[in-house]
Order: sequence, then C-alpha cells, then structure tokens
Amino acid sequence: MIPFENCPICGNKLKEKEVEKLLRGGVNTAIVKVHAEVCLRCGERLYSSETVRCFEQIRARLTRQETAGFQPLGQSFFVPSCNVDDLSG
Ligand SMILES: [Zn+2]
Repeated sequence: MIPFENCPICGNKLKEKEVEKLLRGGVNTAIVKVHAEVCLRCGERLYSSETVRCFEQIRARLTRQETAGFQPLGQSFFVPSCNVDDLSG
C-alpha cells in the first residue's frame, strides 16, 4: 500500500496512525481523517496513492463548492497580518 518501509527523509521506522489532514480548495477548507504511515522521529507523513486520490477529489469538490455530505466545522478566517499589538487589543 505504501511504497516505503522506512521514512524517506530520515530513515527512521514508520508507524501506521490515524491522522487529520487539512485540505484546501479555493477559499474552502476541510479536515479528513485518514490512515497514514507516520515517521516516529521527524513526523513525516506518507499516504497511499488511494488516499492521495481521495485528497484530490475533496480539493476539487471544495473548489467547486460541492460540499454535500461534508459536515460544517466551525468557521475559517483570513488574518491579513500577524501583529501581536492588534491581536491582543
Ligand atoms: Zn523521518
């Protein structure tokens, strides 16, 4: 399923985990729970080609605003600059 036994970045062992992946399409975002092989040392995540195809489908649907079957989850915001003085007021 995953073409690596060890992390291609640092060579450490990979462990299968359930992770949350944030996807963007156009101005929309979605979070999807998927299985990934996660490096225990550097945190690199590897996804199967099937999962990557699923990400592409979700991104395409987000771009086209076709969100039937997706659950609303809070709101997302754009903050034009990271200024501590503005944000703490
Ligand atoms: Zn690694």
